[in-house]
Amino acid sequence: PTTDYAPAVVVGSGYGAAVAALRLGQAGVRTVVVEMGRLWDTAGADGKVFPSTGAPDQRSMWFRNRTEAPLATFLWLDVVNRDITPYPGVLDRVDFGDMSVYVGRGVGGGSLVNGGMAPTPRRSYFSEVLPEVDADEMYGTYFPRARQMLGVNDIDPAWFESTEWYRFARISRKHARNTGLRTTFVPNVYDFGYMKREAAGQVPRSALAGEVIYGNNHGKRSLDKSYLAAALGTGNVTVETLQRVVAVRRDTDGRYVLTLRGIDLAGRVVGIRELACNRLFLGAGSLGTTEILLRARETGALPDLSPAVGTGWGPNGNVMTARANHLWDTVGARQATMPALGIDDWDNAANPVFAEIAPLPMGIEHWVSMYLAITKNPERGTFTYDPATDSARLNWHISQNQPAVAAAGQLFDRINRCNVTIYRYDLFGDNKPFADTFTYHPLGGCVLGRATDLYGRAKGYPGLYVVDGSLVPGSLGVNPFVTITALAERTMDRILAEDGPAD
Ligand code: FAD
Repeated sequence: PTTDYAPAVVVGSGYGAAVAALRLGQAGVRTVVVEMGRLWDTAGADGKVFPSTGAPDQRSMWFRNRTEAPLATFLWLDVVNRDITPYPGVLDRVDFGDMSVYVGRGVGGGSLVNGGMAPTPRRSYFSEVLPEVDADEMYGTYFPRARQMLGVNDIDPAWFESTEWYRFARISRKHARNTGLRTTFVPNVYDFGYMKREAAGQVPRSALAGEVIYGNNHGKRSLDKSYLAAALGTGNVTVETLQRVVAVRRDTDGRYVLTLRGIDLAGRVVGIRELACNRLFLGAGSLGTTEILLRARETGALPDLSPAVGTGWGPNGNVMTARANHLWDTVGARQATMPALGIDDWDNAANPVFAEIAPLPMGIEHWVSMYLAITKNPERGTFTYDPATDSARLNWHISQNQPAVAAAGQLFDRINRCNVTIYRYDLFGDNKPFADTFTYHPLGGCVLGRATDLYGRAKGYPGLYVVDGSLVPGSLGVNPFVTITALAERTMDRILAEDGPAD
């Protein structure tokens, strides 16, 4: 294969990658971003870039014959999923036995499909998770910088109280208060001003039209509109799509050489090529980056990588659950897709839980209150390299999610007791009130200070960096993208100051 060259290459285009691309571009470093998904900027036959959650099509999922939405059924009926044609769609579900991981695919990574919730972790818990990172610097400089760059904004409390679109959240708040629990507003990168105009019928609807996990056509400041737009604006950054990194090695003059597999929209391999660079920034996410490094270590391509590569993975204690409300506690047929409120019981030392109040926009009254609980599950998974499939396998047993289910159970049993309500058993399959077999928040695999130094430099390999969620050791207590962004800002400051020119 022919070998191209760029001074710096960034793998992936999610949060960590986007920060790396912008800061490299601003420093004058010619940078190529390599992304396995497509660029989401062109409308399909329906005039929209992304399909809605209620009417998914080929654009919704990454090479599937049928969609695999997190809620399998409603009243035990499979009404949610649809047959589709395989295509490089925007949401992927990576299955590892007892654990499935939802991830975004495309220019912008997870920012294309996520709920936009942008909380900053409790300082005390951040310091517990990453004790060697200077918290003064994070909370004084990098968290504020990340929030500003990402366009984090708050809902207008008066509008929240009055709009039919957040009735579902107010009902859950009432039930939390009846239980003596505290709720808190959660900031978001969805433009709440735009959402207000949606409600007023002044602009096309997105969050108020069921759009979220298969992409938002309006209103959300995904990375392609923030960091990545700014990166391209430097004139030094280019993005190559539908290119998957399948191998990395180091040549004799110390450059990193990536093997890239290009595909077309039908998934056919259209080319294999090599791309060499002096500085390599891995931002392929917890699963992607860990797989790239684990494969490199285990195949002998980069044999001196740390034994810690592949360890310290966790699902951020994610558990979903749902409650059935009394007939008088209607949640509303109309629900905004962006969560805006959370039950914050993280300071309960005996049972810390942060539960976002999740919408279930079905266009009909269903009396369901749904939640994504983030718990403090101490269990961790480990990846092993499988030579037969040339891929990373996550070793995670269902029993490892028991602490998370128990913690969520304690909280929601209390809420049910105080409000004389029950769980819903029809939503997650197997008649289970808790969804404990998937996560939206994969974290770890190349943990900061273990697989890398304290700034994401891969141990043993100068010029090789990790910048994404794989650095976070499995738990954060809140939704992770603001933290991933802030850590990447910190890393890039340090690397650009200390590690010399890339050329
Ligand atoms: P990612 O954003 O995952 O980006 C990695 C990119 O690398 C992807 O685009 C991928 O296609 C690409 N890639 C992977 N492997 C390769 C390869 N070998 N070659 C080339 N490219 C590759 N977090 C929050 O903070 N708030 C929320 O409200 C929230 N809601 C969520 C809802 C859903 C449905 C999902 C799936 C996630 C949600 N998250 C949320 C999680 C958040 O999106 C992730 O934590 C975040 O995107 C991780 O950022 P990252 O930089 O680690 O990598």
